[in-house]
Amino acid sequence: MKATYINRQGDVDVLTYGDMPEPSVGSSDVLIRVRATALNHLDIFARAGRNGVVLDRFPHILGCDLAGEVDRVGAEVDGFVSGDRVLVDYSIRCGRCEACVSGRDQLCIDSRSIGISVNGGYAQYVSVPWTNVHAIPERLSFEEAASIPLVYKTAWHCLVTRCNLKPGEDVLVMAAGSGVGSAAICLAKLLGARVITTAGTDEKLAKARDLGADETINYIDTPLYSSRVRELTGGKGVDLIFDSIGASVWEQNFKCLKLGGRLVNCGVTGGHRTALRIGQMFARGLTLMGASGGNRADFDSVMKLVWRGQIRGIISHTFPLEAAAEAHMTMEGRKVFGKLVLRIP
Ligand SMILES: [Zn+2]
Repeated sequence: MKATYINRQGDVDVLTYGDMPEPSVGSSDVLIRVRATALNHLDIFARAGRNGVVLDRFPHILGCDLAGEVDRVGAEVDGFVSGDRVLVDYSIRCGRCEACVSGRDQLCIDSRSIGISVNGGYAQYVSVPWTNVHAIPERLSFEEAASIPLVYKTAWHCLVTRCNLKPGEDVLVMAAGSGVGSAAICLAKLLGARVITTAGTDEKLAKARDLGADETINYIDTPLYSSRVRELTGGKGVDLIFDSIGASVWEQNFKCLKLGGRLVNCGVTGGHRTALRIGQMFARGLTLMGASGGNRADFDSVMKLVWRGQIRGIISHTFPLEAAAEAHMTMEGRKVFGKLVLRIP
């Protein structure tokens, strides 16, 4: 089969387009003929060996988010037949540890990820456990389907499961142009919140408003954006901050929080080490949360919205599979709004 694979971690030139053997199909696996796979920052970290992402076997095929058609299924698989249109939840959980049995499988002690621990979607075929496979409606293109799983699962987990976002609350979504930022804007609006969001260009802010964002701030023109957030909230600050950037925005974000406000972080694209004003945290009654993804219940909730057409995948650009290196460079250059998708031949 055709695939883009890597033989070691490194710069974009390690991405190699060529032939790889078709994966084997275990008794509880589904072999998927991949039609589209979407990039995440996790792909960059895994390719480059950044932020502690270690790959332990090569050649390796990246790609956490993917959609396609069922080719064939293992003997124990129930509910899928050849030709079914599907997308994949990238998280493989043990199902047995304390976290898994208590419904908090995002904390599974033996968690693995498709595209990281096992081969992923930068290929014509991928074999995945059938419990990770979800049917998609006919009207959804494979490109759009592939752009949904990781970012919406994360956004749902952060906004709903962890932060219990309520209608009417003010939420600040950092990095409107990122995949997870654009998904969070759509979900927060669906949940009835007022959305304030940031981006580095007016073009991205216009697109954020198209998704429903109520207020937008250009952080290049307004680096001390906390003053603007305070203005927009009558001096109070926001109820909730959804952040995937980390250190570079921490200081300003802290100033944006309302008394009793909560901040949930799900990424460190802007650095992972900062100082914390502990006195302010307790005196202002703040809640600071980390979220490393979502759980199966979060994913099921997202899939309901997919079937009802209440959320959409936000695609910035598509590339052919052999241009994966160009897609990685585009993501690192941040000239994107939403997801970058690879079309599989
Ligand atoms: Zn587990």
